[in-house]
Amino acid sequence: MKKIVGSRELIRNINEKNIIKEIFEKKETDRTSISKKVSLSGATVTKIVNEMISKDILVEKGETDSTGGRRPILLSLNKNYGEFIAFKIGMGYINNLITDFSGEKLYRETFYFEKITEEIIIKHITESLKNEKIKNPISVGIGISGIVNTKEGCVVNSYILNLNNFYLGKIIKEETGIDTYIFNDVDSFSMTHYWEGNIKKYKNSVVMTLGVGIGGSIFINSEAYNGIGVGEIGHMVIKENGEKCTCGDNGCLEAEATFKNIVEMIKKETESEKLINKYKELKDTEFSEREFIRLAREEDYKNYKKAFKEYSYLIGIAVKNLINILSPEYFLIGGEALEFKDDFLENTINYAVEKSFGKIGRNIVFDTDKLGEDAWTMGVIYKMFDEKIFNLNM
Ligand SMILES: [Zn+2]
Repeated sequence: MKKIVGSRELIRNINEKNIIKEIFEKKETDRTSISKKVSLSGATVTKIVNEMISKDILVEKGETDSTGGRRPILLSLNKNYGEFIAFKIGMGYINNLITDFSGEKLYRETFYFEKITEEIIIKHITESLKNEKIKNPISVGIGISGIVNTKEGCVVNSYILNLNNFYLGKIIKEETGIDTYIFNDVDSFSMTHYWEGNIKKYKNSVVMTLGVGIGGSIFINSEAYNGIGVGEIGHMVIKENGEKCTCGDNGCLEAEATFKNIVEMIKKETESEKLINKYKELKDTEFSEREFIRLAREEDYKNYKKAFKEYSYLIGIAVKNLINILSPEYFLIGGEALEFKDDFLENTINYAVEKSFGKIGRNIVFDTDKLGEDAWTMGVIYKMFDEKIFNLNM
């Protein structure tokens, strides 16, 4: 069995961070372009770059095709510097992704569990860190729903997973010696859309994820608006004295617009034997509820459609509220519910846009996630870059 070694050395210097961020963003660039971009003299850039090459952080690559004169040498991140290890914990599953230092995927796998508990999470993660792809671990990142404290390595409240004050990051760091960060899963998801998608192209953006949980992220002036508990869209109240929410309140969007409620609505009305039998086998996992809904689409389209009509308005109310508060230019919708988007999304957007104040919603670019599950785990990798490599406050 492979022995786990501690995390790789941090890059602490501000100039180093700015240079590395520029290279990360461009993937390949030369010393002159970097010096223009980060406003440092050519000599300073060369000195820092050479140091980072000697530390194996950067590598030089071929030459660019500029015309005339000396051809600049391209710099890129050294893939072999180490690995980032990401986990995304959901209801009934844990996703694992390992990338090299440049963010290239080395390994990805989903593991399913009947129930997610503290013990199962710790056991699974420590076992997964023995993966032979991991040679020089840079850090571990864990994406999870709810309120997290990244610095303390703590899952403060993950209501839907029923985890409270769970010092997961601290425990993993103590057991393995590897720096471990806890991130909100939706913030991670959004970072994938920041680096690989369209968020960077717009000034203000809202990201909303629809699944078992309903979450959100906000970007202002093309920067993530971060903070503990920011963007908990799922806990805006849309029905007074409504359904009990996992957070303790009643009538939260997440408690009203749930797969569970869709299932219940269909079950109440349906006469399909197949669906009634399927209902009896339901387990408390998001996969199980989605399976039921899929079956309902085939067996009882009328009641399926009716349930999604109700769902579309509930989400529409939340979208309208967000438009009125933030007036974003770009509105991205993600999450597992997109599987059924043909039966609710158009209605949701039309409702929100037409009800928005002064019809400001008409100018918004609405978009849906096309990356799927990968966006959640890859986002954890981006968050680690942000936290460990680019972050100036450490
Ligand atoms: Zn709530």
